[in-house]
Formats: sequence, C-alpha cells, structure tokens
Amino acid sequence: MFDVIVVGAGMVGAAAAALLARAGFSVAIVEANEPAPFDASGPVGLRVSAFSPGAADVLREAGAWRQVERQRHCPYRRMEVEDREETVRLEFDAPEFGLERLGTIVENDLVQWALWQSLLAAGGVELFCPDRVAGLEHGPGGAAVSLHSGAQLRGRLLVGADGADSHIRKLLGIRQDYWAYGQQGIVCVVRTATPNPGVAWQRFMDGGPLAFLPLQDGSSSIVWSRPEAEASRLLGLDGDAFAAELQLAVAGGQGHWPDQVTACGPRAAFPLSMRLCDRYTAGAAVLVGDAAHVVHPLAGQGVNLGLLDVAALVEVLVDARRRQEPFAGEKTLTRYGRWRRSEAEVMARGIHGLRGLFLPSEFGLLRRLGIGLVSRSWTAREAFIRRATGRNRNAPALARGVALTELLH
Ligand SMILES: Cc1cc2nc3c(=O)[nH]c(=O)nc-3n(C[C@H](O)[C@H](O)[C@H](O)COP(=O)(O)OP(=O)(O)OC[C@H]3O[C@@H](n4cnc5c(N)ncnc54)[C@H](O)[C@@H]3O)c2cc1C
Repeated sequence: MFDVIVVGAGMVGAAAAALLARAGFSVAIVEANEPAPFDASGPVGLRVSAFSPGAADVLREAGAWRQVERQRHCPYRRMEVEDREETVRLEFDAPEFGLERLGTIVENDLVQWALWQSLLAAGGVELFCPDRVAGLEHGPGGAAVSLHSGAQLRGRLLVGADGADSHIRKLLGIRQDYWAYGQQGIVCVVRTATPNPGVAWQRFMDGGPLAFLPLQDGSSSIVWSRPEAEASRLLGLDGDAFAAELQLAVAGGQGHWPDQVTACGPRAAFPLSMRLCDRYTAGAAVLVGDAAHVVHPLAGQGVNLGLLDVAALVEVLVDARRRQEPFAGEKTLTRYGRWRRSEAEVMARGIHGLRGLFLPSEFGLLRRLGIGLVSRSWTAREAFIRRATGRNRNAPALARGVALTELLH
C-alpha cells in the first residue's frame, strides 16, 4: 500500500511526487511517456514557460531548480503590456515591487527532465513508466488502480495530474466547465535586429494577444493567439512570409522594441480553452494542475497555478500528519480543494475577463479603458504583481520561500 499514487508526471505531477517523497510519503508514479534527456546543445524547444518566483521556489524544494539554473534559462525584470490601437501602456519593473526578478523563462523539457532526475534520486518513489491507468476504484479508505501493464496499485491517496484531458477526472466523475476560445496559440522562436533586452512584452490586438518572452541568447519565444482559421493560414506560410506577417503585428509599437523580426524558427500551435472543475476532490482522490484547471496562456499562469496546487497539497498533508489526523481524510482534502479551487477561479475568471481586452474592435474602448485604469493605479499593479509572482497572501508556504524542512518541523 503506497501513501500516494500520482498519475501523470508532467511538470506538475512530477513536482508533486518529488515533494511528497521528500516529505517522507511513499509514492507510486504512473506516467505514459518517459521524458527524453534534455539536450542543452540542441535548439531551444518550442514549449517554454514563464515561471513565477513562487513557482521557482516550489521547484527548488522539489530538487529541480538548481539544475535548471545551471542550464538554459532567462530571468526577466521588466514586463510591458500595450494596446495596438492606443497609446495606453502598462509597465512593471521588478525593483519597483521589491523583487529581484518578475519571473524566469525556461524550456518545459528542461524542467521536466530536472524533475525526473530528482524523482530518480529520491528514495521512496516507485516509477511505473511507460504505463497507463486502465481502471480505478476509490472511496474514503483509499484508491485501487489497475494499469495497462497488469500491475495493481493501492494507495491511501490518489493524485490526478494527467493534464487537460484527464482520464482520472473522468473516472472520478468530476464535472468540468469548458470554454473553447476558438483560438490557437502559435509558438515559435524568433530573432529580432535588436536582441531581446530581457523584457516580457505583450500586445493586445484584435483577434488575440501576441507575447514575446526573452531567451538567454537574445532571441524570443512568442505565443501569438489567433482565431483558428487565421492560425491555420499562418502555420501554412513559409518562414519568410510568416516573419513578414509577424513584423506587421509588432510594427508601430510604443517602445523601441521589438524592432525588426529577422528570423523565425519552426512553428506549432495549441488550441486555447478555459476549463474549471466544479470540485478538486472525490473520496480519497484530488486533482492538480491542468487536470483541475486550464487557463488562457496570455497571463503565463497555467503551470504556475499547478505548482502552487502541489505546494498547497503538500502543506495540508504534512499538517494533517503532524496533528496525527488521517492525511487522506475528508477534512484535509476538502481544505486543499477549497483553497486551490478558489485561487484558480479568481485567476481563470480574471484572465477570462481580459478577453474584453482582445475582443474585436467595437470593444476597443473597453480594452483601452482596462489598460488605462490599471496603468494609473499603483495598488492595482501591485496586486496584479503579487498574484502573478505567486506571492499573494493566499499563496502556500513553499511558494513564499518557506523550505520543506521548515514545514516538516
Ligand atoms: C502556448 C502555451 C503557452 C503556455 N505558456 C505558459 C507560461 O508561460 N507559464 C505557465 O505557467 N503556463 C503556461 N502554459 C500552460 C502550461 O503549459 C500547462 O499549464 C502545463 O504544462 C500543465 O502541466 P501538467 O503537468 O498539469 O499537465 P501536462 O503537461 O499535460 O502533463 C500531464 C502528464 O500526464 C501524462 N498522462 C496523461 N494521461 C495519462 C494516463 N492516462 N496515464 C498516465 N499518464 C498520463 C502525460 O503523458 C503527461 O506527462 C502555456 C500553455 C500553452 C498552450
């Protein structure tokens, strides 16, 4: 009997397994695909994420962040948000908010690999990979999971971390609200005549936002949200034609950068949606990460929310164990579920509301008013930064810089 069975070792599930093992729980992890070793000499991967300082602290305690910092990563200290049609502009500088950085851009594959290494090194973790869940029985006393390989696992707690199309969520019968944005997020590594000066830049435009995230070598990783038909057309263009379209989208910016787009690498696109589960717990099972919530990438918060779920889960489990209560008991899991669901709801609906910022031009006034109002209020900007950096009042202790060893005492 394991203390915890984690299904899915994406960035969120792997962080959960590593932290739980480090906290002294016995852990089984089931993952369909073994991650490939990270190749630091290869080209920058298409999937990168902006990790908040809070999420970086969670990854540090999971034993992965030191390895990330030894390899390709790019801290950013400045963020600029502007509107295509108007002169309103939002600027955030880390020192203004007493921060060393606003976040760090890292390739997903590097984080994934660093977490996998941490899992392999941790005692108390058994890996079932490649393998998949075939069946599940669960109740207040624990969960019994059968795998495609024929293995049978029993655990006191089941953690569903199997991503946006979570099979575990469906097996648990947890309902989900789903909004398809009718957009694709095109991702690509881009070079500009002037290297990216370490700025996360975003422009709201009709049809969807365009973000440039800084990479260590001065290039940028872009996420360009476009309506589906338009995204298919852009994906079908050759590199030069795509660069020319991107140039039109960045032209006429209010700052001096991004200037001339000089080269675009390979492209991929991801359908964009918002998904919110009506609860995160069922019997002795919980959901974390994209299995529980999916948000539009415009605020770069998806994996950050998931890593804070993990930190909150570890905090409530350790707390219950210290008080000699059953760590997979209803009271403990309800505490986790309520805490994180309300946080994800605030974030997801806030981002969803920002849709008003990139609706068609007849909504342009709303868009301009939104950015204009926030840009004039330091309090609003400060509240935004606290949440975006994972350090607001409701953030779990591990995301506020408390070490796991402190939580355990
Ligand atoms: C274009 C784009 C840009 C983004 N940028 C950012 C950003 O800047 N910052 C940010 O915070 N977020 C960002 N996100 C969101 C972020 O990528 C996701 O929130 C994050 O990857 C979710 O991680 P996860 O571990 O929960 O799920 P996943 O990464 O989906 O991992 C799920 C894992 O479960 C495994 N699995 C699935 N089913 C089974 C099964 N039945 N049995 C066993 N294993 C299974 C899969 O193999 C996988 O390894 C972005 C998203 C998009 C689309």
